[in-house]
Amino acid sequence: MIPEKQIRLLPPELQNQIAAGEVVERPSSVLKELVENALDAGATRIRIQICDGGQSCIRVSDNGSGIFEDQLELAVTRHATSKLQNLQDLQHIESFGFRGEALPSIASVSRFRIASARQDGDGGILEVLHGRILRQDKTAMPKGTDVEINDLFSNVPARLKFLKKPGTETRKCAELVARIALANPHVDFELLNAERSVHRFLAGQDLTQRLSVIWPEEVVGSLQAVDYTEGALSIHGLVGDPAMAQGRPDRILVYVNARPVQDKTILSAIREAYRGRILGKEYPQAVIFLEIPPDEVDVNVHPAKTEVRFQDDGSIFRIVRRAVLQTLERNAHQTRTSDHAQPLCVGQVHTSLPVMQPRFSVPGRVKIEPDQDTFLYDQDWPQKFASSAAAQQLFESADSQLLEAGQPASIANPLPNSSAETHALKVHTSAAVQYLGQFAQTYLILAAKDEITIIDQHAAHERVLFNMLRAQGSRGDRRPLLLPLEIPLHAAQATLAQEIWTKLDELGFSLELAPGLLKLHSIPALLTPSKAKEFLQDILTEKATSMEDLWAVMACKAAIKAGDTLTPNEALALVDSWQHLPEKNYCPHGRPVALRWGVSDLEKLFKRRS
Ligand code: ADP
Ligand code: MG
Repeated sequence: MIPEKQIRLLPPELQNQIAAGEVVERPSSVLKELVENALDAGATRIRIQICDGGQSCIRVSDNGSGIFEDQLELAVTRHATSKLQNLQDLQHIESFGFRGEALPSIASVSRFRIASARQDGDGGILEVLHGRILRQDKTAMPKGTDVEINDLFSNVPARLKFLKKPGTETRKCAELVARIALANPHVDFELLNAERSVHRFLAGQDLTQRLSVIWPEEVVGSLQAVDYTEGALSIHGLVGDPAMAQGRPDRILVYVNARPVQDKTILSAIREAYRGRILGKEYPQAVIFLEIPPDEVDVNVHPAKTEVRFQDDGSIFRIVRRAVLQTLERNAHQTRTSDHAQPLCVGQVHTSLPVMQPRFSVPGRVKIEPDQDTFLYDQDWPQKFASSAAAQQLFESADSQLLEAGQPASIANPLPNSSAETHALKVHTSAAVQYLGQFAQTYLILAAKDEITIIDQHAAHERVLFNMLRAQGSRGDRRPLLLPLEIPLHAAQATLAQEIWTKLDELGFSLELAPGLLKLHSIPALLTPSKAKEFLQDILTEKATSMEDLWAVMACKAAIKAGDTLTPNEALALVDSWQHLPEKNYCPHGRPVALRWGVSDLEKLFKRRS
């Protein structure tokens, strides 16, 4: 028989301890609550001391408004707050706190002391042990509040066990202080660990100066300002150069109305903006502040208030993505403008390599003078390269018997404005760039007056082809096959193929689905039959479904490979097609295409100067 049980209200200490389970996870979450209280009180100077990773002591002193002596007991009473009075206030929250449960929760799992004064010399003090008030008195102290927590979790052994080593907890506290300091530049923050200074953020520093305290110089130096407004939303902050991307996501900091948050929508918008500029496994640096009318965001999702809910997730995603993308594109454009001042590739090329005859005909345009070390090259080349005709010639074409006779081997005018794009090729007597040759049959080496550049030939060609596919959109030129090619398919792959059927058709595939088989009747003009087969096998295995993904895989398949020997003519034609592209620095998968060293970089590497 089940014993009859009475329903009883829990004693306040127990209520607070239960709430503490959610609000106070570890020392850094205590610190967060205390520092946010100081900010809500209008403090301009906040001094934080911790020892033993915050477990044995956390102390936060501020010069904010202070608490009336007779209200100290209320401050440690659950659901007592000065920041909210009615439901309407809850919908327009502008303070960090509003739930009135941090101090009582913290005081229920520690030895807690709060001293506070509304004016200099006239304050009160309250001491609590594990939720029970031990002492309340008057005290003389300067205006502000001083909260000290000792022996955190001493009455909750389970929590104590779950804490990491003091060093790790100290690091988490330091990260927390820095995160808050970035959003409050007018406030002076000082963090001390066992009397030793960890961080000092001086009042009045700007975001870059504050970041220099915590991030390496070269990362901070690469940051670009984001500043974007759309309707009632505004976004500002800093984002890193894609070339500085890193393997961990710990330098992506997001704030909503100055509140540090973890938000999936904003995170994925940032990553989406970097897509194609960094690798899938890399993360950029970004500090993003989103300002949004308080009634369009719900901050009351979790007691720790590190999550928010937006009324319109979709537009937040679009706007953040646009804001970051605009900054990245502006930056890329600036690099491009300076490239134009000193074109990487000009028509007259000096080479110290033996000049080879191209392996495919170049009617009338190229004048090759093998006995000299100078030659001029064909103005149509970039166009041909972009069309991949040249690349296709590089494939060993056992495939050719599969193709129907008389089919065009290249796509007509594949690059929009390609005739305009080729202007940089016109013979230029002040040739500033030397093509030094191909290294490891993979890298193209160029020397300009004060810079040496190494280009990954496959990545560069991938970028050229990807941009061409994107520019021509769905106009998929196709090559019929004499005999249909067959690819064995699993049921799941067949379903996927059906899902992207129209996209494949747009790309130039004519396909037929038979039981366990996919039959290819025609393929995109850009691919050879074996590459077309590889393309389909890859996308159906990797589950690439967006048009961008399909273009990226197709560009990869059609591009020349590492290991393909290129003549100087071919190499330069490729470089020229590539150098004018907006996203030239990254292949469609986000790998870098070119590495550059200036004279001063080399001087540093050779330790000629520091
Ligand atoms: P909340 O911040 O959600 O209101 P807390 O439990 O963190 O709840 O704090 C309770 C109340 O104590 C606050 O509403 C505020 O009035 C007062 N308080 C706490 N810390 C400070 C401080 N550093 N300076 C001034 N008032 C404070
Ligand atoms: Mg609070």
